[in-house]
Amino acid sequence: MEKIKIGEKKFLIEIKRKRVQTLRLRIVGKNKIVVNIPWLMPLMVVNKFIKNNEGWILRQNKKIKKKKRLNKIKKIEILGENYEVETKKALRDSLVIIDKNILINYSEKNKLKEIFDKKMRILAGKLIKEKTRELANKYNLHYEKVGIKNQSSRYGSCSGMGSLNFNWQIILFPMDKFEHVILHELTHLTIKNHSRAFWELLEKYDSNWRENNRWLKREGTNKFII
Ligand SMILES: [Zn+2]
Repeated sequence: MEKIKIGEKKFLIEIKRKRVQTLRLRIVGKNKIVVNIPWLMPLMVVNKFIKNNEGWILRQNKKIKKKKRLNKIKKIEILGENYEVETKKALRDSLVIIDKNILINYSEKNKLKEIFDKKMRILAGKLIKEKTRELANKYNLHYEKVGIKNQSSRYGSCSGMGSLNFNWQIILFPMDKFEHVILHELTHLTIKNHSRAFWELLEKYDSNWRENNRWLKREGTNKFII
């Protein structure tokens, strides 16, 4: 990763040489861009591209919200419902959810995220497993088991053996996006790749898949708490 200046802003930039035909620039986080370029493309082309698209990059970057840090947030949404978050120093670590309040007791401040992840993952596991069962039944799909992971950027995955894995933090999405992620992985039970047939099948389960997919790319990881 290198630093560059675009307009008045400093950006982290990562240039990846890949088997691609043309340059492709993505804004992957606040002030962070990744550029995929063909093996032999001179770096000059990248600089020129950035210069020519400065306005667009700055506009897009503005839309990206900073990632939420647990010690700074007062409220979270779980499947579209608001919860107040309260943290308190205490002798023992604990997390309890009463009505729409999440109370976290921590013995040391740097353990806050660990307590949060551990407890919320249990709740998430329940919600994700229930929803997966419900949707699989509805569409007559058969999976082996559901695992709950703490992946940083992936939302879910489907193994060749029919095991599904989900990032617990997808419960921080609105309900329709949450269901979309699960339906995406359930579709992989039938079609492993992202071929045209895959999207056609997914459309049968989620007629709004295109919009949901776009939302995930744009907003998904912004909902994650780090
Ligand atoms: Zn997929």
